Amino acid sequence: MNDMTDIPAYDDGNIFAKILRGEIPSHKVYENDDCIAFMDVMPQAPGHTLVVPKAPSRNLLDADNDTLRKLLPFVRRIARAVETAFDADGITINQFNEAAGGQTVFHLHFHVIPRHDGVALKRHEGGMESTDVLEANADKIRTALKTTPKD
Ligand code: 5GP
Repeated sequence: MNDMTDIPAYDDGNIFAKILRGEIPSHKVYENDDCIAFMDVMPQAPGHTLVVPKAPSRNLLDADNDTLRKLLPFVRRIARAVETAFDADGITINQFNEAAGGQTVFHLHFHVIPRHDGVALKRHEGGMESTDVLEANADKIRTALKTTPKD
């Protein structure tokens, strides 16, 4: 158990910890010293991106304030780039805590999903996207980031 909450302790065997350690590949969009953004392999809409702090925490409930302070500006920067890259009408940000809250990967992350008027989201973890499509979408966001305000 974690000291601060009654949720289980962080386990570094999760898939995002493996991505952070470079043990499995990802379609990386951007990273800085504290956070990384990469494509969700089972996107709920084209351009669905995950933002992950590098510091270990299981979810929002056990994350320290320093991690959270660094994370939100990064989430916004990625959201702005995703909006530009996919000419979105809006952006949905999802963040799930514990299995009962919808969480399946137990390293804190935010979902950044471009939305278009009248288009429903696909099911959470509905199906794998092809590597080619994920890479093309990552590239659109990388390009948009070049002109996206940092703050
Ligand atoms: P959660 O339910 O924990 O908020 O969402 C975890 C997300 O991680 C899901 O949307 C799922 O599609 C995504 N995901 C699961 N395994 C992998 C993986 O190996 N690589 C990437 N990039 N995303 C993954």
